[in-house]
Parts: sequence; structure tokens; C-alpha cells
Amino acid sequence: MITPIRCFTCGAPLAQYWEEFRKRVEAGEDPTKVLDDLGVRRYCCRKTLLTHVPAIYEVRRFKRVL
Ligand SMILES: [Zn+2]
Repeated sequence: MITPIRCFTCGAPLAQYWEEFRKRVEAGEDPTKVLDDLGVRRYCCRKTLLTHVPAIYEVRRFKRVL
């Protein structure tokens, strides 16, 4: 749900790539080229960014009721 901080498999930090990756992919760029440009080479790290579902943007619309 939240931004992937580290790769789930190898533990490499990925949080610094997420915003640029998301913006460029939403702008229509090919995700493969974006990951190559960002220097994310390992397929486990690429998988973590490619398959992340940013549900936080949907969840944050709802207010907390106490
Ligand atoms: Zn990895």
C-alpha cells in the first residue's frame, strides 16, 4: 500500500526511485526504459517497483472515524 522502501527480496533501498518512476510511467514512458535510466538493474528490484500497487492514493480519500 505504501511506497516500497526496500526490495522485498534483496533489501536494496528503492524508496528514492518510486516518485520519479511513478511520474514518468504515468506520463506514458515505457517502464523498462525508466528502470534502466534510474539504474535499477536487478530483476527482483525491478519486480518490486513494477508490481507495486499504490493503493495509498485511494485509501487517503477516506477520513478516520473515531
Ligand atoms: Zn532486489
